[in-house]
Amino acid sequence: MPSTLVFASHNKHKVEEIAQALSGKYELQSLTDIGCVTEIPETGTTLHENALLKARFVHQTYGLDCFADDTGLEIAALNNEPGVYSARYAGEHKSSEDNMDKVLTLLQGKEDRTARFRTVIALILQGKEYVFEGIVEGTIRTERAGTAGFGYDPIFEPKGYDVTFAEMTMEQKHQISHRGRAVELLIAFLATHLSSSDDNILPSE
Ligand code: IMP
Repeated sequence: MPSTLVFASHNKHKVEEIAQALSGKYELQSLTDIGCVTEIPETGTTLHENALLKARFVHQTYGLDCFADDTGLEIAALNNEPGVYSARYAGEHKSSEDNMDKVLTLLQGKEDRTARFRTVIALILQGKEYVFEGIVEGTIRTERAGTAGFGYDPIFEPKGYDVTFAEMTMEQKHQISHRGRAVELLIAFLATHLSSSDDNILPSE
């Protein structure tokens, strides 16, 4: 029978995407599924800290195996900002449009437009903590292009491509993205963990 694993997120779309990849091996549940309505405070100063904060909250409160993610856009010419503050770069109640405007304004006249997205996933399995990281390198365009995706997608062009994330299909983006890579590492780890724990199960007589 598949073991239960919680993804400490309310984002149905993210949960469904990973649930598919894990199906048959783990039954993935969202925060909503386990009845957690709390907005877990993301008070850390690094992606690493925030991902761990969320995973530890679920593990300590519900005693369940779980993982949590945190993502940031790191722009070289802005000292790796917005980073951990990506969601609220232009202010607490501002939109993705405002965040992109702020980035484009701050980068005006700067030659170095290199940037990367970084996703950190913290997993707590049987009381042990593990961390996985996915990165995609790229550059910030001078103008928006494309309408797909979310967040900073219209201004981020991944290295080796001449389109932005917002001009890719979800599948294309997922194959090369920060989140896609981090999730791949998580899934590979869970698969080996399962097969090694299967080895420990003695056959019944
Ligand atoms: P979260 O940790 O996944 O909630 O991401 C934090 C913020 O980073 C989001 O609110 C977005 O602004 C930005 N972000 C995260 N992932 C992506 C992405 O794949 N494309 C564009 N922006 C993203």
